[in-house]
Amino acid sequence: MLVATLIWIITTAAMVTSALVIHELSHVLAVNYLGGKVEKVGPFPLGFSAKFTGLEKLHGWERYVIYGAGSLANAIAAAWLLTVSRLSYLGIPWLEQLAFYNIVLCIFNLTPVLPLDGGRIFHQFLCNRVGIRPAGRIMLKLGLCVSVAFIFLGFVQVILYYNITLLCAGIYIRKQSKKMKPVLQMEFFRFLEAKNSPTRGRLMPVKTVHIPSDMKIKNIMDRLAIDHFTQFMLKEKSLAAQCTSGQTKECTLSEKALLTHIFEYGLQGTAGEIVVSQKYL
Ligand SMILES: [Zn+2]
Repeated sequence: MLVATLIWIITTAAMVTSALVIHELSHVLAVNYLGGKVEKVGPFPLGFSAKFTGLEKLHGWERYVIYGAGSLANAIAAAWLLTVSRLSYLGIPWLEQLAFYNIVLCIFNLTPVLPLDGGRIFHQFLCNRVGIRPAGRIMLKLGLCVSVAFIFLGFVQVILYYNITLLCAGIYIRKQSKKMKPVLQMEFFRFLEAKNSPTRGRLMPVKTVHIPSDMKIKNIMDRLAIDHFTQFMLKEKSLAAQCTSGQTKECTLSEKALLTHIFEYGLQGTAGEIVVSQKYL
């Protein structure tokens, strides 16, 4: 009995570890290939976790590939293991079990909460849809909701099946998402810096957004995205009316002009005031 339990623990640990290695290795290979930096591959409650830097310099799609690589590799591994097992026509139990751990890891990591891969993917998507800062706020709330749901379902699982997997996952997500607030704030500035760095060497699309000219600068900051520049068109109102005479160009506020103003004068003022001040400089 004891020996059997011991063998079960060792084989399970070996299988979970191999699924984790496949997962993290795929992230590392994707980062190395696409041009980020692997900072460290360190221990993590369930095995290893890789940390990357320099991703803000990459294209949006490259970041999606890096975030998705781990789960994709697990999915491919699971499909391959199941195929091999089924081809042997009776099925090979340990291959199917290994496939199962790969599927679990794939699905768990695609949960759309930070810092999991699914969270990274969803966060980046939101950053380009609603702006970097609102995306961060949504992700923090989502992290709280999902962790509470996991913990609740975890208790149900403990009572019904004597299994603590979901409960552990919920506690892990709760602990990690609490650490995300300062990380997201840092990321906001890193992304803006990388986007405006002259050495970036790639063109980014420009999206036009209409705003009232009396919109406060700190609210305009909420509109900035990761993978495109935002050009603000001031609506014809009070201050904006002063700076236009049939030339719409005069009434636009570029992201660069906005950031230059913020670095020099801080977050005080409105969109219209920046445009007017630039015109009369
Ligand atoms: Zn991952």
